[in-house]
Amino acid sequence: MDEALRAGKISAFANVVLTALKVAAGIFANSTALIADGVHSLVDVLGSVLVWLGIKVAERPADASHPYGHFKAESLAEMAVGLIIILSSLLIMHEAISSVINASVPTFELYAVAVAMLSAVANELLARYKIRVGLKTRSTSLIAEGKHSRVDVLSSLAVVVGFFFVYFGYWWADSVVAIAISVVILQIGGSVLKNSIDVLMDRVDEELALKVRSVIEKIDGVKSVDFIGTRGTMKSRVVEVHLTVDAGMDAETIAALQREISEEIKERIPGVVNVVTVVNVTKPKVLAIPVDLYGHYTGELDSPRFVVVNLESGERMVVENEHYRAEKRKGYLISELLEKHGVSMVAVRKDGEGAKAHLKSRGILVKVIDSGLRDVEDVLMAVS
Ligand SMILES: [Zn+2]
Repeated sequence: MDEALRAGKISAFANVVLTALKVAAGIFANSTALIADGVHSLVDVLGSVLVWLGIKVAERPADASHPYGHFKAESLAEMAVGLIIILSSLLIMHEAISSVINASVPTFELYAVAVAMLSAVANELLARYKIRVGLKTRSTSLIAEGKHSRVDVLSSLAVVVGFFFVYFGYWWADSVVAIAISVVILQIGGSVLKNSIDVLMDRVDEELALKVRSVIEKIDGVKSVDFIGTRGTMKSRVVEVHLTVDAGMDAETIAALQREISEEIKERIPGVVNVVTVVNVTKPKVLAIPVDLYGHYTGELDSPRFVVVNLESGERMVVENEHYRAEKRKGYLISELLEKHGVSMVAVRKDGEGAKAHLKSRGILVKVIDSGLRDVEDVLMAVS
């Protein structure tokens, strides 16, 4: 059997026994504090068991009627547990206050003190055991449970201290301890409830979002990251990213980029089970139209001039092609020139593969425009 699971079961069993002993002894000795401590143990068991059940359901794979999986089942279980815990805390508080008002005096009984002491020792042993197994099996939830058992030790010790006050005549000390324990229980319930609400409300995990951003921003081809969302539980987190790439990027490259993003995030950030990417392609803003010396559209990259048009503002300028008739690396040099002028799209008659690769590497889109056109205005019309 899984060692972490066994540790959890042993702990739950021990707590059930402690609950029975403490509640029984508390009733016989009329000690609200001891009953409260018993309820505290029961609440701890309930919490662990329900969370396990939730995890079992949450692990079920997605099906036709639950395409996003079942991970929220864990949160629903948590929410129910949180509410039960808060309710029991309030009941104990009510009980403690009414025993002060009614002057319900607890009796100092050695067996009751012994039960509280036993509970403190047992919880300390459980704490050590769970932390050790938790570290070994890398189960953060088991380590957290182990630390929680340390709180349980304090809870039981407080009951012992309360009994000694009762022995010396301060009978109300028992109720004070009971109220203190109920506050601890209330905090447990509150954090369980908050955790479940965070998951159900898809509250963003800021630390995770920062990690995701730093991973994506290092990937080539990503121009900007527009949205990062995270949801799910600690064990199965879903990340959604929206990003923008250059206008010149084709579908194949975008698909490869999405794969890379998904793999990088899953590899670098534990607990991420799914990455959804939405890619926006920037709308080309600046168009270059190659023209001859008479200002007619040539449709060839190797032309003496370019009319560079800002498609948003309508602003135009003529750029001399200093690499016109260059001997070597013409495609490279012209692409560089166009990039320098902020060009994001260039009009050509037919897309030759060599030049296209150069343009693409600079994020410049190649737009094939009808060869019958001569006039720059007609080319502009054809683009828009
Ligand atoms: Zn506890």
